[in-house]
Amino acid sequence: MNSTIFLDSDGVINEDNEYVYKREDFKFLPNVTEALLKLQSHYLLFVITNQSGIGRGYHSENDFIKLNEFMIQELKNQGVIIQETYYCPHATNHDCECRKPKTKLLERAAKEFSINLKNSWVVGDKMSDIEMGKNAGCKTALIKSRFVEFIQTQKFDSLYEAAEYILSYNALLRCRELLKAVNLKNRKL
Ligand SMILES: [Mg+2]
Ligand SMILES: [Zn+2]
Repeated sequence: MNSTIFLDSDGVINEDNEYVYKREDFKFLPNVTEALLKLQSHYLLFVITNQSGIGRGYHSENDFIKLNEFMIQELKNQGVIIQETYYCPHATNHDCECRKPKTKLLERAAKEFSINLKNSWVVGDKMSDIEMGKNAGCKTALIKSRFVEFIQTQKFDSLYEAAEYILSYNALLRCRELLKAVNLKNRKL
């Protein structure tokens, strides 16, 4: 079973300039490629994003699809493979089943790519990202943003910092398992 990183896009991969749909307004955040390259040596990468600009009529679904293709291609040029982008196109008042913090998109990915959710992470810059992750039994990492200024929980300055934490967390787990195995062996001797 695969372990994955479910990435939010706005505020994690690119600057959150609210309902961005034009290529000229799309800006990658610093060190995103480096962070994703690190992560993808251990995890499959997915994007899950709320795109209510579509449901609100600020731009078309096709605008989003084109911008997402651009992002995916730019990352691919740097060697980063995003397996799939899942998005909710609905406005908040549609009361749909796919908008974060609901878990429908994440569960769809889990089914389609045979993902072990317990070993997977959600990285986002809003509490709706983190809640989706917790609701699905994933681990979570919150990136600092204007949306979470007052939230008293561990926050990372960037995706890069979160990536380092995620990878060191894994190393720690492996160490613990190794120690456990050694202890068991010693006990048997
Ligand atoms: Mg965001
Ligand atoms: Zn939706």
